Amino acid sequence: MLHIGCHLSSAGGFAAMGRQALSLGADTFQFFTRNPRGGRARPLNLADLQALGALLAENGFSPIVAHAPYTLNLCSPNPATRAFARETMADDLARLEHLPGQYYNLHPGSHVGQGEAEGIRLIAQGLDAVLRPGMHTTVLLETMAGKGSEVGGTFQQLRAILDETALGALVGICLDTCHVSDAGYDILHDLDGVLTQFDNILGLGRLKAVHLNDSLNPPGARKDRHARIGEGCIGLEALAAVVRHPALRGLPFCLETPNDLPGYAREIALMRRVQEEGVPL
Ligand code: FE
Ligand code: FE
Ligand code: ZN
Repeated sequence: MLHIGCHLSSAGGFAAMGRQALSLGADTFQFFTRNPRGGRARPLNLADLQALGALLAENGFSPIVAHAPYTLNLCSPNPATRAFARETMADDLARLEHLPGQYYNLHPGSHVGQGEAEGIRLIAQGLDAVLRPGMHTTVLLETMAGKGSEVGGTFQQLRAILDETALGALVGICLDTCHVSDAGYDILHDLDGVLTQFDNILGLGRLKAVHLNDSLNPPGARKDRHARIGEGCIGLEALAAVVRHPALRGLPFCLETPNDLPGYAREIALMRRVQEEGVPL
């Protein structure tokens, strides 16, 4: 059973997103909790959120992924920027308590010249400010491409964040195929080796979701430019191996490929087919 979906816009409301996902053949999806550039969230429509919860349960969805605005930076050198990231996350997580059991995906942050160790310390401190024992959402740190001063481009950096966070045991990981490839983990030629490294450093039990993207750039390029499935440097065969891999069975896979809705529907159907049958030679 493959749980797959794509990134959707929440502009039409929560339940509408669920219906849109169904119409695309999806049984999971991702959305931004608010304007990705980090503005105010719309007033919470509780009935709409509960309608989405019912739709997810009735249709056998895996957990869905609420993505934090990508402009949040828990390890900015600017204290006001760090405070804004914490406040936004706390507000998002409070809202998500009304839709229990889902994931909240976060880019760890960029240290902007303060150095990796200070970045890791500030991210852990920020997570400690927003995580609560008994919360019903799992926060996921996304594996990053290592562009600029991004923290989280190596499994070791993510491990260090988890270790320095008091409630780090509650935190999971979302693996982005474009990002790990860009960061130098060669999933095209050595998926097993990359997953073994992941397991040794982070533990595969931490891996809760996958962003399924091709990359416009070769492994190690640190660019973070997503491509449609089969149109980039990773390719259909390697991405099929990802959705077929026994270690990843049952996880939600979210496409973040540059597509319109019909394009997403085609990629969802394609990945379901290759997950069952493999890639025809
Ligand atoms: Fe992301
Ligand atoms: Fe991603
Ligand atoms: Zn990306």
